[in-house]
Amino acid sequence: MKFAKTFQKVLAEETLPDEWMEKAIRYKSLKKIINKTVSELESVGVSRNDMTINYEISKLKRRIRPVLTMNVSPLSEALIVDKLDTLGYNYEIKPLKSQSQSEPESDDHESGTTELETPENSSYSTLQKFSDKLQVQLPEPTMDDRASVESSIEASAVSFLKTPISTTTAPSSASIVTAVNPFDDEPFYQITVSLHEDAKFFQMLYEEIEALNDFSDERENEITDWVEKIADIVAKVSSPEVRKNDLYTWRKIFQIYMDSQIFFSTIEQSAGVLSNATSKIRYGKFLEKIEKEKLVQHFKLKESLDGFMEFKALNESILKVSNFQALNIMAISKILKKFDKRTHFKSKELFPLLIQKSEQIDILQNSMGRDIGSIMTNRLLNIIPQVDDYLCPICCSVAYKPIRLDCGHLFCVRCLVKLQRKTEDRCPLCRQPVVMKADQRNLDLSQMAYLKMYFPKEVKKKQAENEKEIFKEQYGHVVDPDAKACIIM
Ligand SMILES: [Zn+2]
Ligand SMILES: [Zn+2]
Repeated sequence: MKFAKTFQKVLAEETLPDEWMEKAIRYKSLKKIINKTVSELESVGVSRNDMTINYEISKLKRRIRPVLTMNVSPLSEALIVDKLDTLGYNYEIKPLKSQSQSEPESDDHESGTTELETPENSSYSTLQKFSDKLQVQLPEPTMDDRASVESSIEASAVSFLKTPISTTTAPSSASIVTAVNPFDDEPFYQITVSLHEDAKFFQMLYEEIEALNDFSDERENEITDWVEKIADIVAKVSSPEVRKNDLYTWRKIFQIYMDSQIFFSTIEQSAGVLSNATSKIRYGKFLEKIEKEKLVQHFKLKESLDGFMEFKALNESILKVSNFQALNIMAISKILKKFDKRTHFKSKELFPLLIQKSEQIDILQNSMGRDIGSIMTNRLLNIIPQVDDYLCPICCSVAYKPIRLDCGHLFCVRCLVKLQRKTEDRCPLCRQPVVMKADQRNLDLSQMAYLKMYFPKEVKKKQAENEKEIFKEQYGHVVDPDAKACIIM
């Protein structure tokens, strides 16, 4: 299926609001302009077979300007100039070399010895080499250029285009015309011209991308506000200061959510923004797990259920936005590829670079997944502390009661007592000799209160384990910690 159709079909399937559909890249219209560009190139007589063509795209404020530079033989020059005049284009024409250098060397055109001879598919890089060879001095930009040039791709090449090739020895064009053999097919002139249809194409594409970028920013702001709203709900329903709260249920949900890595992966091999298809699958799996563990049924508060519904709607909206964005980025890439295929220019390399130089436009970098991921983590998921961040590095259970050594590292009291018994003076993390001097003054009371508040179940379990261990030390065997009557306090 042709991309234009696929694009429309997928957009339609997503059941997006009309406002979104209007912002989608107008792929079909752009494709029509490509056809016009091809006709224009034909009518001007630009053909890759007999000339060296360099294509540049620059941007003056919000105006995109493609510039075509052709190194042509005297015969082609006459034909092209005639067409350009007839069609009313503004163009510049310069001799490529001075008269003395341009003396026809011989009738043997196949010899391939002249330095300007370039292969048929001459590219930008061959022209660049050519410019280096000529050691052109860059002229001072005119006031107009200085004021208006915001950015341009390959600045050196552009200035090269504006530079008279031979500043001192260039003869008048009249004398060249008389001196050259019009049937010599060596490149002899350089014609610089801006055509109309390709300019229209890039201008339209640029404006579409700009609008899409604004639209994306708006969606991101909406999502940020939404995240804040949900964060307020979750903070309220999970507060341990209220007796009836859903702290553990929300913690579990967020833990599963983070492990699911829905929009952004932090795992080494696949680090980075994920494709929309992957995000959708991972989101589906996240919901399955929530369902399997019956977490929603565990909510004690009705606000929690409302909050979870909002959280689901938020995620589904993010999936929609990022899918819309990914589709448009694909459309942009496809249309540039089409342009290049039809014209043989290299806009797919040039144009995205030009756009990315615009600080306000970052849509092509597809950074939404990353942005959303960090908003989610910082504003919402971090509201509920996860026990993994409060583990003792030795026993890997919650660091209760927390002893903060003079080096700043924190361990649970049991592990520290064991170190002291072995007269291990060095901190296991930083090797500073701080263990032996630690005593009850090193008990981090505020941390202890915090752990007790946010991890009451883990703390209780840890205490029970500690008691079990003490009992074992004293009596040499383990008793069931649940058999409370036996425990020595
Ligand atoms: Zn420990
Ligand atoms: Zn330390």
